[in-house]
Amino acid sequence: MRCLVIIVVSLCLLAMTQVRAHERPSIEVFGVNENFEVVVPLTDEAPKVDGRLDEPVWEKAAKVLGFRQISPHLGQPATQDTTVYILTTTEKLFFAFRCAVRSRNAIRAYETRYDAQMRRDERVTIFLDTLHTHDRAYSFTVNARGAKADERFGNSDWDAQWEEAVQVNENEWIAEIAIPYSILTFDPNRPEWGINFGRYVSETDEWTSWAFEPERPFDMRYSPHLVGLPLKGQKANSDNFVKRWLLKTFSVADYRLDGGDKGIGNNYGIDGEWTFRPNLALRFVFKPDFSEIEEAFESIDVSYVEQFIPDRREFFVQGSEFFSEVAVAGEGWRRGSEPSLFYSRRIGKFDLGTKLTGALGSSRLGFLSTHNLDDSEHTFVFNFARTFGTRGRAYFGYVDALRSNNFNRGFVLGGETNFGYRNRFWFRSSYARHFSSENKRDGGAGLIRFGYGDERWFVSLGYTSFSPNFRPLLSYTPRTDFKRWSVFVHRNFRSKGTEFYRNAGFSVNWSKGETFSGKFFEQNYGLNLWLEFKDQTEISLGWNRNKHAEYHIREEPFNDKSFWFSLDLGGNKPLRADLSYGFGRAFDGRYTQPRIAIRWDKPDGSWRVRLEWSQRHQTYGGGTKQTVRSHEFNITRVLSRDKWLVLRYYNRGGDYSVKNFALSFRIRRETGEELFLILGDPQATKTRSRIAVKWIFPFRF
Ligand SMILES: [Zn+2]
Repeated sequence: MRCLVIIVVSLCLLAMTQVRAHERPSIEVFGVNENFEVVVPLTDEAPKVDGRLDEPVWEKAAKVLGFRQISPHLGQPATQDTTVYILTTTEKLFFAFRCAVRSRNAIRAYETRYDAQMRRDERVTIFLDTLHTHDRAYSFTVNARGAKADERFGNSDWDAQWEEAVQVNENEWIAEIAIPYSILTFDPNRPEWGINFGRYVSETDEWTSWAFEPERPFDMRYSPHLVGLPLKGQKANSDNFVKRWLLKTFSVADYRLDGGDKGIGNNYGIDGEWTFRPNLALRFVFKPDFSEIEEAFESIDVSYVEQFIPDRREFFVQGSEFFSEVAVAGEGWRRGSEPSLFYSRRIGKFDLGTKLTGALGSSRLGFLSTHNLDDSEHTFVFNFARTFGTRGRAYFGYVDALRSNNFNRGFVLGGETNFGYRNRFWFRSSYARHFSSENKRDGGAGLIRFGYGDERWFVSLGYTSFSPNFRPLLSYTPRTDFKRWSVFVHRNFRSKGTEFYRNAGFSVNWSKGETFSGKFFEQNYGLNLWLEFKDQTEISLGWNRNKHAEYHIREEPFNDKSFWFSLDLGGNKPLRADLSYGFGRAFDGRYTQPRIAIRWDKPDGSWRVRLEWSQRHQTYGGGTKQTVRSHEFNITRVLSRDKWLVLRYYNRGGDYSVKNFALSFRIRRETGEELFLILGDPQATKTRSRIAVKWIFPFRF
């Protein structure tokens, strides 16, 4: 462990000494000057956001063109041209996209709702690295139907008010976008941002982007700079900075007509945000919202350890992007396999919460506290992440959980850097230590990972160690007591246009580990293959063999095998289907697992239908048989951009039984206003008569 700490610290020092300016991507980029920057013209006349570029002021705009393909033909010019125009006033940044299309009938875009998943809808995206950290950006997306979605530093639950309008003509569609400075987090003393643009061309199923390094198309370190921004005047107390206070009141009323808890229930509270500087916001919550009125059920897979369930509570969801390092457990495949200290679902009911999030220079920081006054339980979480130019980053996190009779506190320290030819090699490392008055929670964990990546290969070699007592009170740590080596190799084959496929590849993984006392822990082998045909049909196959010890269940290690096959049909057409079939061994018995999912979207976006059926049939070691089945039927009627009706039926049987039927009406606006009216109880296992209304109303002043 001591050597890990030394490695982590030296990594941070290495990163600090190698601050370097920007590298230009290795492909030609049109519309950007030698300094690899775009100078945005400042104007007094704000264009009207109507999807028409008829105001003369657009002639003064900076112009960006020369989009290239990321997929299917990496680096080749896009088959349809995209031109972006950029302008600014002291209040807003203006963008206009001119997107050439073969004909207006070739455009596919189904989504009309705010912040919904756009999958393979024709669309454009603006990426803004306002903190210039080179690792996380804002994204603003508009599809060809005028639906929009936004994200802050990777958090799609972030919502803001910005204007957009779309116009579709015979041979092009135009998106006009205005983003107020007041919704962005930035440091007024650092008026140089990272910027990039992307477009998905639906007719040819093409992902295109403006300026990128072909080997790392989504890497913000290779994005050009946006300069000429009028940031000096952007003060929290000036007139430009409109959103200073945001108070969200929420109320939930609930009326149950049957069951043990028959009667009326209610719940209300306040959630507020005060943006006192363009780079810092303070959030507080009084009587936080714990009413979950929508809930999905668990999958029917076998699991040996605790499952990770994302927290949906507003207080934890908003601003979670400022805590991603201390809570790395929440991020995709990393969850549970990297040292982490914070899983917000470990915090139960509390009365008051505070949160400070923002940036200082190129550092992202977050602090939060929760207080349960009755039991005097207090929690403090701190997260700090800093990038060093384009060369690396380092982070530090601290958690302190004050509980009645014991103490639980810990820290995590980590970093990463790229080096070598075209930055193809990388190294990352992290270490966490938790101190507790309880012995079983007093321990450390660390990892070292070294890798190589180019446009075809990705190879990673890692070593991870979790001491037997590394169980931080507030973390998601499903497995401890191991030292494990792992190797992952991924190879991608891209079509040059003449082959029958668009994309193909394989990956191989291997890991082996033992416990701290030298007992067997795990030996795992896996292979995955995938192939995407020109018509967007995708096939994938996988095989995995995993011998793993679960000493909390029994003495002998389990020997699991699995094989699966899946087929994805329909691409971006209105009717699509996913079919999969898996079989293998788990819990010393055999299983088979088929699944069918069918989706249909009416091309005008007004109706959507989903059907899903899956089953798992298992024969256990002793000969006991079990079949678990689930069906789900979902029909959505989109009434307008912000109003829709959903009818959902869910049925599960075989292990525990669920039969559930609900009709909901929902309003969701980017202003933060929400109404959720639901008949039926999606959390109940039997169909229940219930009416629940949840209303969130924001005030801005
Ligand atoms: Zn930069």
